[in-house]
Amino acid sequence: MADGGNCLDVRGLTVISAGSHLWPNPSNLCVIKDDKGFSMIDVGCGGPAGYDHLHAGLTRLGLALDDLHTVVLSHAHPDHMGAMKYVLEAVHPKVFIHSHDVEAALDISLLHESFDIPLAKEKFAPLGTFQDFDLFEFFDVFGCSMNPTENVEAVNEGDILRLGDFEFEVLLTPGHAPGHISLFERRIGVLLANDLVGVSPAWYTPNSGGLRGYLASLDTLESKKASVLIPSHGPVVKNPEAGIGRMREKLLKREAILCEALRAGPQTFMELLSALFRDAGLHFFPGCGILESHLIKLAKEGKIQRGEDLISLTHVSPKASTA
Ligand SMILES: [Zn+2]
Ligand SMILES: [Zn+2]
Repeated sequence: MADGGNCLDVRGLTVISAGSHLWPNPSNLCVIKDDKGFSMIDVGCGGPAGYDHLHAGLTRLGLALDDLHTVVLSHAHPDHMGAMKYVLEAVHPKVFIHSHDVEAALDISLLHESFDIPLAKEKFAPLGTFQDFDLFEFFDVFGCSMNPTENVEAVNEGDILRLGDFEFEVLLTPGHAPGHISLFERRIGVLLANDLVGVSPAWYTPNSGGLRGYLASLDTLESKKASVLIPSHGPVVKNPEAGIGRMREKLLKREAILCEALRAGPQTFMELLSALFRDAGLHFFPGCGILESHLIKLAKEGKIQRGEDLISLTHVSPKASTA
């Protein structure tokens, strides 16, 4: 792995790496040159910092946006595609995105649904707070604006995307976004797990695929037996199996925290929210969506019961002895 400033070479793939894995930094960007110009996997945040990240990385590689002919978007989120605004000012590449995220890439107002903002507003309605929350203002305030794209072509599970000398298998890996994709290049053993594996898990909500979707996606990623994993946020993972395992553990630890709280007695949604996230700044978003995803999984498995106000552990009566 060669390091050239903020540009890394990972088995022939060039990655413009973001300075930090923390929101609202843009995602890592992948650049693939060919004889017609170049392709990119994700383009980063809208807003000035996103433009600087994209521009500085391409300049370091001796490239200009005019020669960008293809963009693959891992999913329709602002830190991955907000910078399409700058791309489209310079050039009109073909844009691939999973069919489940096509509509949101064209009409960004649909993100309210996949981020489950209506659910969070409903939970906070009794408190009278966050009722005028605007997702796009939230992105703008953090300097990672969202912008739509054009020229979209849908990809689906199992499709092969040929970019330069590389062939990427498209894996539908929901949980964090309904059309979140990961890309596997079998010949070099590289897996682009995008937002699902990194320093910490991505957020998840019921409409983004939920916890059950996220866990199933981690199984899909593990089954590829990649030898190196490139995340969208954070450093390259040299042991993909361990990196994927760490994400699974962190997700299941949250479930353990919830079950522990419920063992003390029935709890309200808001009480469980406080048990799960000490930082109240996370309660509205992404807290509500994450908690609801856990409750859906636990209810589906018959481990909890949900009343009008209270959530409780399912009482398991001891089996009568047949001896
Ligand atoms: Zn994302
Ligand atoms: Zn991201």
